[in-house]
Amino acid sequence: MDELWFADGLDFTCLECGRCCRGEPGAIWVTPEEMQRLARHMELTEEEFSRRFMTKRWGRPSLVERKNGDCIFLDAEKCRCLVYGLRPAQCSLFPFWPSLLRSRESWEEARERCPGMGQGRHFSQEEILAMLAKSPFFEL
Ligand code: SF4
Repeated sequence: MDELWFADGLDFTCLECGRCCRGEPGAIWVTPEEMQRLARHMELTEEEFSRRFMTKRWGRPSLVERKNGDCIFLDAEKCRCLVYGLRPAQCSLFPFWPSLLRSRESWEEARERCPGMGQGRHFSQEEILAMLAKSPFFEL
């Protein structure tokens, strides 16, 4: 394998500003297993959960957003995820997404929106690759 641009690792610590959960519309992809867990947690049937909280983005199941682009499960006032312990892998793996790790430029561009990227905890290349491997919808 060619040397990856993040061979020296990357720094990231979430500052809990909530910016990645709000604003401009995007996708919050959810696997069938994640959806089942969320539905069970909310004591809803999968059909009911799907009707109320799911949509499709780029052909894949995604959580719906509010009109202002906030994730439906963001408590905007407290800046808190209402299903934090059950949040989809797409959320828990951020910012170690294939799309952001594709190039240094993609990472740097994302840093303009996320103040936690580029500071705090150091993640080694091995740790980053392990997180990429957990990404349910992507391949490196
Ligand atoms: S934008 Fe970055 S620092 Fe802010 S909540 Fe999201 S991951 Fe954390």
